[in-house]
Amino acid sequence: MPISAAPSSFPGGLNADLHCHSQVSDGTLAPEELARRAHANGVQLFSLTDHDELDGLGRARSAAGALGIVFIDGVEISVTWGGETIHVVGLRIDPANEALRAGLAATRDGRDARAREMSDSLARAGVPDAYAGALKYVANPAMVGRTHFARYIVERGLCRDVRDVFQRFLSEGKPGFVPHRWARLADAVGWIRDAGGIAVLAHPGRYRLDDTALWSLIADFRAAGGEGIEVVCGSHTPEQYRRFAQIAHESGLRASRGSDFHGPGESRAELGALPPLPASLVPVWQDWPEAARALSSARRMSGGAALPAAARA
Ligand code: AMP
Ligand code: MN
Ligand code: MN
Ligand code: MN
Repeated sequence: MPISAAPSSFPGGLNADLHCHSQVSDGTLAPEELARRAHANGVQLFSLTDHDELDGLGRARSAAGALGIVFIDGVEISVTWGGETIHVVGLRIDPANEALRAGLAATRDGRDARAREMSDSLARAGVPDAYAGALKYVANPAMVGRTHFARYIVERGLCRDVRDVFQRFLSEGKPGFVPHRWARLADAVGWIRDAGGIAVLAHPGRYRLDDTALWSLIADFRAAGGEGIEVVCGSHTPEQYRRFAQIAHESGLRASRGSDFHGPGESRAELGALPPLPASLVPVWQDWPEAARALSSARRMSGGAALPAAARA
C-alpha cells in the first residue's frame, strides 16, 4: 500500500499507543522493556501512564529515544466521582511540575493503609498473609494496589488468573474490596492542566454509570478543563468503540487510543495492536508537534515505501 493511503485508514497516519503501565505502578515490565516492546510492535507515538506516579518517565523516554520512537510523558490519576472510581489520563505533562507532583503524592498517600485493610479483609475471607504476599510483587512500595494482591492470590492457587481474582475478591462488594477516596475530578484535571498537559477520560466503558450519570461525568470533566476521551482502548469492545466515537463527537472531546497494557499474559490488548481510531474523530495528538515529528520520521524511514504493518491496519 502506498504511504499516501495510510492517513485515511489510520488517523494522523500514526500508530499511537497512549496508555500503558510499568513496574513503577502495576505493570510487570520495566519502563525500558515497554519502550522496546512498543518499538517492536510498530508504535510510533508512545506514552507511559503509570497510576498516580511519574518515576518511570525518564527511563521510558531515554529508551524510546534510543530506538527512535517519539515519547509523550503521561500519567493515569485515580479519581473518586459520584462514589465511583474514575481514571483520568494526563498526556504531554511536565513531570517536574510542582502542583502535579504534590497532587500525585497526596493521591498515593492512602495506598499503604488501604492495602493493610484489604489484607485484613482477605484474611477474614480465607486468604492469609496477603499484605506480605502482595508486597513481593511491588517494585514501588508507594504504589501497592489491587493488581499486586491479585498476582499473589493467583500464586497461592486460589484463582486461575488475575481477572478471576477481581471477580471473586477485589471488585466492589467482594470480600477483599476496601472503599477508598481518591483525588477529586476537578483537582486531577487541574494538576494535569497546570503541568501543561491534556486530560483524557480513561476507558469510559468500564464505569458502572447509566447514560445520565455518564453525561453528567462528561459535563463535570469538561467544566474542569478535560479535553479528551479514550475511544479505542483495551477495555472496550468494538461496539464500545462505536458508542464512544459517537459520544466523542457529541461532547466535542478529542479521541485517544491506548492499550492499557500491563504485561504479557495479563492484558486484553497488546501494545500498539488495537484498531485505529475511527477516521471521523479528532485525535488528541492532532496538533502536537511530537505527532508531526513521529509522522515525518515514519515517512523518512519508509523511504516512500509502505509504513510498518501495524500502521496500515
Ligand atoms: P487500584 O488502583 O489498586 O484500585 O487497582 C486498579 C487496577 O486494578 C486497574 O488499573 C487494573 O490494572 C486492575 N483491575 C481493575 N479491575 C480489573 C479487572 N476486572 N480485571 C483485571 N484487572 C483489573
Ligand atoms: Mn492498573
Ligand atoms: Mn485505568
Ligand atoms: Mn491504565
